Amino acid sequence: MILNELKDRVLSGGHITPDEAIFLANLADKEALYKAAHDITLQMAERRPDFCSIINARSGRCPEDCQWCAQSIRHHTQAEVYDLTNKDECLKVARLHEAQGIGRFSLVISGRHPSPALLKKICDTVRHLRQHTSIQLCASLGLVDEAGMQSLKEAGVTRYHCNLETAPSHFPALCTTHTQAEKIATLHAARQAGLEVCSGGIIGMGETMEQRIELAFTLRELDILSIPVNILTPIPGTPLEHQPLLSDEDILTTIALFRFIHPRAALRFAGGRKRLHKDVQWKAAYIGINAAITGDLLTTTGSTATEDHRLMQEAGYITDDTLFDRLHLWHPYTSTSHPLPVYEVERAEGAVLTLKSGEQLVDGMSSWWCALHGYNRPELNEAIQAQLTRMSHVMFGGLTHEPAIELARLLLPLVPPSMQKIFYADSGSVSVEVAMKMAVQYWQSLSLSALGNGHLAKKQNFVTIRNGYHGDTWNAMSVCDPVTGMHSLFGPALPVRWFAPQPRSRFGSTWEEEDIASLRTIIEAHADELAAIILEPVVQGAGGMWFYHPQYLTEAARLCREHNILLIFDEIATGFGRTGKLFAWEHAGVEPDIMCIGKGLTGGYMTIAAVLATNQVADTLSAYAPGVFMHGPTFMGNPLACAVACASIRLLTSPEYDWQGRVRRIERQLQEELAPARDLPQVEDVRVLGTIGVIELKRPVDMAWMQHRFVQEGIWVRPFGRLAYIMPPYVIETEQLTQLTGGLVKIVREIGI
Ligand SMILES: *Cc1c(COP(=O)(O)O)cnc(C)c1O
Repeated sequence: MILNELKDRVLSGGHITPDEAIFLANLADKEALYKAAHDITLQMAERRPDFCSIINARSGRCPEDCQWCAQSIRHHTQAEVYDLTNKDECLKVARLHEAQGIGRFSLVISGRHPSPALLKKICDTVRHLRQHTSIQLCASLGLVDEAGMQSLKEAGVTRYHCNLETAPSHFPALCTTHTQAEKIATLHAARQAGLEVCSGGIIGMGETMEQRIELAFTLRELDILSIPVNILTPIPGTPLEHQPLLSDEDILTTIALFRFIHPRAALRFAGGRKRLHKDVQWKAAYIGINAAITGDLLTTTGSTATEDHRLMQEAGYITDDTLFDRLHLWHPYTSTSHPLPVYEVERAEGAVLTLKSGEQLVDGMSSWWCALHGYNRPELNEAIQAQLTRMSHVMFGGLTHEPAIELARLLLPLVPPSMQKIFYADSGSVSVEVAMKMAVQYWQSLSLSALGNGHLAKKQNFVTIRNGYHGDTWNAMSVCDPVTGMHSLFGPALPVRWFAPQPRSRFGSTWEEEDIASLRTIIEAHADELAAIILEPVVQGAGGMWFYHPQYLTEAARLCREHNILLIFDEIATGFGRTGKLFAWEHAGVEPDIMCIGKGLTGGYMTIAAVLATNQVADTLSAYAPGVFMHGPTFMGNPLACAVACASIRLLTSPEYDWQGRVRRIERQLQEELAPARDLPQVEDVRVLGTIGVIELKRPVDMAWMQHRFVQEGIWVRPFGRLAYIMPPYVIETEQLTQLTGGLVKIVREIGI
């Protein structure tokens, strides 16, 4: 009973107390304890095991008196003694380990702390390794101060290891030449320098179970997320040589308790496990060991990487081969030194992604708004195959082709009637660049006309609203939200734009007149320098998933007309039915001068975007020097992309497909099934428009954990900031959507308040 209560508490983000841990340790039903720890591991911890390896870069002759250690100069052991391994030898070992699927490599040296000269040599080695491999580098060099940590970080180390070894109350009995406080100071120094830390201990050194629990809680206070668990191998010649071996039950119970106390940590099997029977090793992994130091370990022989991979697989962990990816590939907005986990997709069909590990996920993202019709859609496959055998690409300068013409024929009836000219661009961001260039060039041209005057040439800047997102390239970035976007990072390198506050009048509620006031003020004051206003109509996407009142567009358009400013709509996210209208401008009936579309254009098959413009814009550009629009991407109008875009639009607009019916059904179901989240204390707001369902939380989410939980629920959702949202493909079935919304609400419930 109490066991389950404690488990549920941990699963919902709570903690157990030391007394409760002691209670768990004394439970008679060990199997029940192991199973509970297993459940916590499955839900809370990383299920892709994390392997690291170490090299004993300098061995022996240590002045310290740690009783367990073979390398102390005071003990008479068979441990090898050698000076710092040369850097090419280290590189050889690092490469070998990288090839074996090991993600981290640690340089370990014996001794209390490295001398400045030795530290410098180690940093040289680190630099050498970092230059020639991509394995992540750790160091374990004893007691090091913050300046030392800084130099390690600058050389390329990302994580520092320093074990607490045992409970604070037991440490003085085992070591008198340094204190545990000095070790903790070392961990703090590492953190101060921006390094991750790794710290655990050795069990079986005469400590009590209470003291093991004490160690676990000490580590928790330090918020350690990588915890090596060593089991003492008594080494002849050390004071602990006759220490009785821990029983299997003691070892497994300790692991279970560590999992209860550290639900999300990597519990890293380290030294001493080799002597355990294979079944016990398996059980340890089942209970909570989800990481290992593999390869040969210091003075004891470890397990090989292959054995460890197999062990982890047998215990139900997923060992897909994403290590190479982690070491060498950049993902969107991801660190290369501390990347979030990625999941390898093998196939995708309809609304389901199938991972290489076999798990099937209902897709809630449409691959970032793109995959309107789900994946592997026969009509789209055929279109691209048919085009492939005719021609995959020809330059668009001086040449044209049927797919490009046909796509324009299909698009024009769907967009605002004033849109008459189409410029094909490579991606959404590029289309925003193109649109902004068009606006500036428009006023430049007009300033040369008989109607115009020189002042119009000054109209080069832009105004937009906060919380927008328009892409990641230079100018697109300049009109993204200045706070959550990347403005501070790029600083003066970015052009400075005008920003009005985000409209607060919600879509579907009443229009508040004062919402437009700030925009009016900016425009009235700066019209002579403004080329255009750029807006995502009605739905702000990646900048905050906010739905605002269409009246804002009507008012903005009026201001544009009054003050001679162009109106640009960025419909890259909102296009092709997402908001319940084919394009979001229809909610207000306001026609822009320039419009960007992308994302869903090819049904998610290929990258292409388009900039649409009025004849007024196009003709003006063309009438004055240089007389042409100055842009022309190499892959402009790519025939494969155009052909699949044609097929996607034909499918979308065919009567049998009934996109409106589909979107309405999805909208209704989202409204119904996300509604219960509205009452949760951790939820700020729930909103639905078209096929977009948003749960806004009160606090930012832990993306790695949440994504992992979603995968366990069999759904693919990628939250960001305080937002967990879904926008499924239009082909999603009712039950699939229920799985998606159910999983989403369930995981939101699990978030602590
Ligand atoms: C995604 C997006 C872009 C950028 O498109 P990319 O194809 O990623 O370059 C621009 N604007 C909006 C509104 C978007 O959602």
